[in-house]
Amino acid sequence: NNNNKNQHIDPRMNNIGMEVEETVRELRQYFKTGKTKSVAWRKNQLQALLNLVHENEDAISKALYQDLGKHPVEAYRDEIGGVEKSAQSSLNSVEKWMAPKKSSMPLLFFPAKGELLPEPLGVVLIFSSWNFPIVLALDPIIGAISAGNVVLIKPSEQAPACSSFLANTLPRYLDSNAVKVVEGGGDVCEKLLLHKFDKIFFTGSPRVASIVMTSAARNLTPVTLELGGKCPAIFDHLSNPSDFKMAVKRIVGAKWGICSGQACIGIDYVLVEEKYSSELIELLKKFVRRFYGDNMVESKVLSRIVNKQHFQRLCNLLKDPLVAASIVHGGSVDEANLFIEPTILLDPPLDAEIMTEEIFGPFLPVITVNKIQESIEFINSKPKPLAIYAFTKDETFKRKIVSETSSGSVIFNDTLVQFLCDTLPFGGVGQSGIGRYHGKFSFDTFSHEKAVMHRYLCLEIEPRYPPWNKFKLEF
Ligand code: NAD
Repeated sequence: NNNNKNQHIDPRMNNIGMEVEETVRELRQYFKTGKTKSVAWRKNQLQALLNLVHENEDAISKALYQDLGKHPVEAYRDEIGGVEKSAQSSLNSVEKWMAPKKSSMPLLFFPAKGELLPEPLGVVLIFSSWNFPIVLALDPIIGAISAGNVVLIKPSEQAPACSSFLANTLPRYLDSNAVKVVEGGGDVCEKLLLHKFDKIFFTGSPRVASIVMTSAARNLTPVTLELGGKCPAIFDHLSNPSDFKMAVKRIVGAKWGICSGQACIGIDYVLVEEKYSSELIELLKKFVRRFYGDNMVESKVLSRIVNKQHFQRLCNLLKDPLVAASIVHGGSVDEANLFIEPTILLDPPLDAEIMTEEIFGPFLPVITVNKIQESIEFINSKPKPLAIYAFTKDETFKRKIVSETSSGSVIFNDTLVQFLCDTLPFGGVGQSGIGRYHGKFSFDTFSHEKAVMHRYLCLEIEPRYPPWNKFKLEF
């Protein structure tokens, strides 16, 4: 209990502390046996994870519905399918990834051979967040076990059904000596962070990330921080009506069709030239109605807000009278159903919280600029986002966006698809994160690439040793 924090002795916390200590100790001992290093162990675990997902699709879907009201198709598209794809491709490639890579040797070192050998880091701690509670827990585990590590995962307590599914199911499928789940909230996290890990992989908010990084620094533990921020969408004028329509449809899909806007890579706000804003807003409304119907509170395809606390946080964003006055569509809320209607705002004040903080919910501010090129300056006035989306056919503008802004990724003419493309790294920069993962990038994130040099006891070059007399130096 957080209220007990100041008491001198809290027996429950002591128990948690002891449990955590024992779990970390067991994991470290198991890692030392070397069992997790073999290709057979890694493949076996990846296959087991695939079996877990295949055999528990319904249970996962139910847990996601319970925590977030996610529709089963959304659950499959964004979570279950992603884990299957990731586990299968790691299973297919892990042997290749593990193989030492030859490195060329400059003539100066002749005779010599060089290689780069990936080795596991050891005991990995993973914190996941609640909005994609399955994929954001299992995808890092796939990377960590592919690289031969042992794992301690702490799922988000704010998605309790998924957290308990993971705690009950992972030990039944995976090697329970090597992959352990600890459930709980901030108090448990604090206990975890008292220990030394060889890597911490964190998905969540910049605020908690800084606590995690500070603790990690005490042990020089490397971190990967997958954070969020305000991802903008630049909407250049698309003169062809069918391009315009498709772009708006994709914006609606990316704003409300993915966990009702509770997504790190969801669109936070749209930038558009003033003269096209009403056309854009009309089409946004049309697609919202087409996707979610007229009685949206009844909609079975719109995820719910995760809990009362986040519901309240979102409602507070609309309380500012100037923000409320900028609503051009939606705005209704239903606390009993944790429902917030897809809401569009036109030019809310730029210093209001809705424009200074990550929204992480179903509000879409449309921000008008005189010339679309000004959107670059607008984006650069804010912390570096996780993703920038830009709908444009103008190649010069595309190059300008890429070269004059900084973000985890830039996606032209689509949204969200980068998350599923594991040949591109996924991660942020600056306030949106440190490090990257997915596919081979995950393997690298959880490995140390060791430099190995083979030399031979022949061809001695004497001038490398003292005494450096005239004879040696003229040699
Ligand atoms: P959060 O920071 O509140 O929690 C993340 C994790 O940290 C949870 O497991 C939580 O239990 C744990 N935690 C809480 N208090 C802690 C403490 N004192 N010390 C250590 N760990 C602690 O974030 P959230 O609300 O779960 O997620 C929302 C944020 O995550 C948003 O900013 C979003 O953009 C970001 N996010 C990023 C990604 C990504 O892949 N980049 C994905 C999803 C969410």
